[in-house]
Amino acid sequence: MSILCIVDDKHVPLYRIMWVSALPHYCGSPECQHEGDYEVRLEQGEVVWATQQERDRVIEALEAWQGGLGSPEDEDPW
Ligand SMILES: [Zn+2]
Repeated sequence: MSILCIVDDKHVPLYRIMWVSALPHYCGSPECQHEGDYEVRLEQGEVVWATQQERDRVIEALEAWQGGLGSPEDEDPW
């Protein structure tokens, strides 16, 4: 079981994910690059954009992970 999941071609550690959007993004801007993508919010206000398939995998991984393995409280990565 990896604590990384791939979102938008990036390996994102599950423990950095704050929340995952339930609905596809829509803001009405004609220049928006992310319409129909799902917002994945990380710590420090960072955002990555997931396809529906990636979003489903992220949620599956989060549910399987249960917050234990690799948690920053268990082991200081620095
Ligand atoms: Zn937008």
